Amino acid sequence: MVIAVYPGSFDPATYGHLDVIRRASVSFDKVIVGVLHNSAKSPLFSVEERVNILEKATKDMANVEIKAFEGLSVNFARENHAQVIVRGLRAVTDFEFELQMAQTNRVLAPDVDTVFLTTSLEYAYLSSTIMKEVASYDGDLSKFAPPEITEAVKKKMHDLKK
Ligand code: ADP
Repeated sequence: MVIAVYPGSFDPATYGHLDVIRRASVSFDKVIVGVLHNSAKSPLFSVEERVNILEKATKDMANVEIKAFEGLSVNFARENHAQVIVRGLRAVTDFEFELQMAQTNRVLAPDVDTVFLTTSLEYAYLSSTIMKEVASYDGDLSKFAPPEITEAVKKKMHDLKK
């Protein structure tokens, strides 16, 4: 049984993330999405909210589980008996950082491999940051994430402006 973890911030998840999760769920027996609780970043959504959003968005994927985690991805992988860390690659701009991360993780945990899924072309430009930027100017979010997520983003932005 090959278990993969997919760690990230997911603040919040986009169609790009959901596409990677769906494709990983086909290739691996189990996919555990790790939502990073990073005290150095100030996310729009709390880690509980981000987990909740992903649970709803992946409810039709039987072998996908969502968990919050803190610390190193390799430790999260080991705690979950995962052999693989999945990451998404959008463009060359992602590559340098992702390669360095994967090599570092290999030094830390030679028993865990990083597998990159290249993004589907229609989501290559998309990031949580871009979605939040457009949302801050009341732009149309419908191409970026499913309605439950875009509604949550709009509500959060609205509450922040109060
Ligand atoms: P992090 O802070 O770890 O980069 P993100 O939530 O931004 O967390 O991204 C998590 C992972 O998902 C990363 O591997 C990132 O490259 C990938 N990813 C983000 N957006 C997309 C997208 N549109 N298509 C494919 N992969 C993506």
